Amino acid sequence: MVLAQLGGSIARALARMKDATVVDEKVLADCLNEISRALLQADVRFETVRDVKANIKTIVNLDALAAGTDKRRIIQKNAGSREAGLHPSKGKPSVVMFVGLQGSGKTTTCTKYADYYRRKGFNPALVCADTFRAGAFDQLKQNASKAKIPFYGSYIESDPVKIAVEGVDRFRKEKCDLIIVDTSGRHKQEAALFEEMRQVSEATKPNLVIFVMDGSIGQAAFDQAQAFKQSASVGAVIVTKMDGHAKGGGALSAVAATRSPVIFIGTGEHIPDFEVFDVKPFVSRLLGMGDLSGLMDKIQDVMPADELVPKLTEGAFTLRLLYEMFQNLQNMGPLGQLFSMIPGLSSQFIEKGKEKEGQAKIKRYMTIMDSMTQKELDNTNPKLMNESRINRIARGSGRLVKEVVDMLEEHKRIAKMWSKLPINNIRRPNNRDSL
Ligand code: GDP
Repeated sequence: MVLAQLGGSIARALARMKDATVVDEKVLADCLNEISRALLQADVRFETVRDVKANIKTIVNLDALAAGTDKRRIIQKNAGSREAGLHPSKGKPSVVMFVGLQGSGKTTTCTKYADYYRRKGFNPALVCADTFRAGAFDQLKQNASKAKIPFYGSYIESDPVKIAVEGVDRFRKEKCDLIIVDTSGRHKQEAALFEEMRQVSEATKPNLVIFVMDGSIGQAAFDQAQAFKQSASVGAVIVTKMDGHAKGGGALSAVAATRSPVIFIGTGEHIPDFEVFDVKPFVSRLLGMGDLSGLMDKIQDVMPADELVPKLTEGAFTLRLLYEMFQNLQNMGPLGQLFSMIPGLSSQFIEKGKEKEGQAKIKRYMTIMDSMTQKELDNTNPKLMNESRINRIARGSGRLVKEVVDMLEEHKRIAKMWSKLPINNIRRPNNRDSL
């Protein structure tokens, strides 16, 4: 993803904007010019740079800036995907219909989506109403079996509407609270796709229609998202293939610019390669702050928010908190993905191929912190870490004094970034699913 990979240089370009208390038109323009320069230096095509610039402008909303509005409020204002009806709620059975052009990643995404909500305590099921593509049912069946999610489909029935209705009825009876209907993706053109969508939709009365789009089409995503928005009365968007595609950032900006609510992004071929998306973290990522909500979501999978959120909102980012974050990160698998979300760490670890280095560093940091006293771990006084303490920690952990100093510097840097985040606005996950 173009924007993410630029890490360091863009973060520096944005530092000035972050330090400004009020972001007005001039500050934004200066910042965008610097970003453009960084993108061009990174060999990004001029057209893409121009479009990204235009899209950031749209997202950040200059009208709000004209009044000299506090930038935190602007970021909050742009939090778009948490609108009512875009997420299923527990205890209220929902039917969610997936549509998308062939090859967009729709079938894969249906399973990722089902798996995501199963982990949140839902009881999902998959219905394959794609009767046109040979092998569609097999593919869904295979994915669903792997993820251990019940599925329904037929090799012989050719009417997608009939299958959809049968599948939804069956899973309703089985008390599934999230029934996901995968429709045909045979169409190359939106018009035909929308017609089928209308028919299946009339028959199954979905609570939500999700449009799956391929992020590798870049700026062309704008027209598709716009067409979808105009045709569907209810709708959310999932943008796939955000991994390793230079055009992903452009696609996401383009969809965001149509104000279509992107709720998730696909970041790989496997089931866990799926991230919650909302405009707020996207904007904050653009501002070089890291994808805080995405990270929170991952962390909350292993750590109850009631424990975590108060810690983060207390203000002081202590060494103990950094240690606990590292512990959580280690339990969560693919670090590369996570590093791109951690404010302050993102610029260092964001590049592909640096994950190993990152893991080694985390290990080293944790060994050093293991030799610290409770007081040092909870410390908020910058003067506490004097020479004798540093020497003692180095001896105890078997690391060089320089390495201890580096770690402390790194902590200071991350703590400084965290202190600037609009962290008090993080929602608690308990409220998240019932919108
Ligand atoms: P459909 O025709 O829209 O149902 O698309 P499929 O689900 O069959 O996906 C088409 C191809 O895209 C498959 O090879 C998937 O593995 C791949 N794919 C789907 N989502 C992603 C993603 O987020 N990242 C990557 N790299 N590949 C994806």
